[in-house]
Amino acid sequence: MSFSNKYIASVYEAVEKRNAGEAEFLQAVREVLETIEPVIEKRPDLQAAGVVERIVEPERFIQFRVSWVDDSGRVQVNRGFRVQFNSAIGPYKGGLRLHPSVNASVIKFLGFEQIFKNSLTGLPMGGGKGGSDFDPKGKSDMEVMRFCQSFMTELSKHIGADTDVPAGDIGVGAREIGYMFGQYKRLANEFTGVLTGKGLTYGGSLARTEATGYGLCYFVREMLASKGDSFKGKTVVISGSGNVAIYATQKATELGGKVVALSDSSGYVYDPNGIQLDVVKQIKEVERLRISEYAKRVSGATFTPGCSGIWTIKCDIALPCATQNELDAASAEILVKNGCKLVAEGANMPSTPEAIECFQSNGVMFGPAKAANAGGVATSGLEMSQNSQRLAWTFEEVDAKLDGIMKGIYKAAYDASVEYGCPGNLVAGANIAGFLKVAEAMKAQGIAY
Ligand code: NDP
Repeated sequence: MSFSNKYIASVYEAVEKRNAGEAEFLQAVREVLETIEPVIEKRPDLQAAGVVERIVEPERFIQFRVSWVDDSGRVQVNRGFRVQFNSAIGPYKGGLRLHPSVNASVIKFLGFEQIFKNSLTGLPMGGGKGGSDFDPKGKSDMEVMRFCQSFMTELSKHIGADTDVPAGDIGVGAREIGYMFGQYKRLANEFTGVLTGKGLTYGGSLARTEATGYGLCYFVREMLASKGDSFKGKTVVISGSGNVAIYATQKATELGGKVVALSDSSGYVYDPNGIQLDVVKQIKEVERLRISEYAKRVSGATFTPGCSGIWTIKCDIALPCATQNELDAASAEILVKNGCKLVAEGANMPSTPEAIECFQSNGVMFGPAKAANAGGVATSGLEMSQNSQRLAWTFEEVDAKLDGIMKGIYKAAYDASVEYGCPGNLVAGANIAGFLKVAEAMKAQGIAY
């Protein structure tokens, strides 16, 4: 797809020039700009206020050295990042990713998407993201702790409960958040809600761990309900076996679906009898082993090396919950051929633009990440509220609020798709609804930033 609006085309050209070679960031910007063209046609005031050229440029981008000492006494050096992309509607908010593939492009794509996702939740949160090319795999707890402490020593200068509130993402779970929170508290000498995803003994919210996976399934439930359908009796394939995949498996099963496959970066497991979640949790959350272990422990289950093969398994619903660009056009075609009826993204930007095109042109219902996986950050927002009130809500209270927020996101995305002439196109609807709120706030606040 190319641009039909000249102003949007010129903004994208400038972004391409300024961020040459940053493939993931350019992919994310292109998708948003393509879908907001009808808004700009209707709203010349937003063009006059320069909203689009401002929204694609981060307010601040911080890169720093993270040096730490490994267990053998050797000095190691990693690169740390935080992008503070947009604060028009609230403090910067977005996770921290620890993975060897992390670079400026990945952090900027994630931070950019976060602006629209956070806006869709209806909560007052701006967009940000951060992380490092540190690989937690194979490191001891003490090495992870020393890395996290060094990382936070610099990051602490840039964040705060009313400024920027990071959370987890790939490679950052309860252990890492704990080490980072401890270091922040030591340096700042204050106990504030500066991170979310905290442990329950020190300010964490019930249901935050489950929120992204649960929220994804609540969103899918709304998509299915719009066609008078439900999860009942559906075969579900979920990629990844981390935080999002595990709790999506749990909720999809509770809602009546049968999850038959999970993966990690080494390959996928297929269990025709339905994935046994307690076994997965033991392997991934407790023992921190590879998903191949599942096939050794559960009879009837098989492991196949190579992760993209997971999309060859016949299913009604596919939920990519691993990483960006994990589902390409070739995989999309196989899913369509095998009769898949719905795809919703638990990971950020897991489907390539060609895969999305394939789903949309073949009538597969498609739930984009910005809307479908917003339950995690929404519940982080609820954790911030509880921290500010110095209260802790029950699991049921948080879960009910999450469910309500996901319903609201589905409705906002669907309604925008209708208003802007592409009914049911939730990619366009989510981008438009997320954009409009931020754009109005930017316009209202003037242009000197
Ligand atoms: P985790 O680190 O808990 O899990 C990531 C999982 O994906 C691991 O099983 C990992 O396997 C697997 N994986 C990584 N690369 C590939 C690949 N190329 N093919 C197959 N599997 C792969 O991360 P999360 O579950 O937190 O995050 C997953 C996705 O969801 C990310 O895109 C993240 O940005 C997004 N997300 C997360 C939120 C959250 O609240 N945690 C909120 C919203 C979005 P391995 O161990 O082999 O690397």
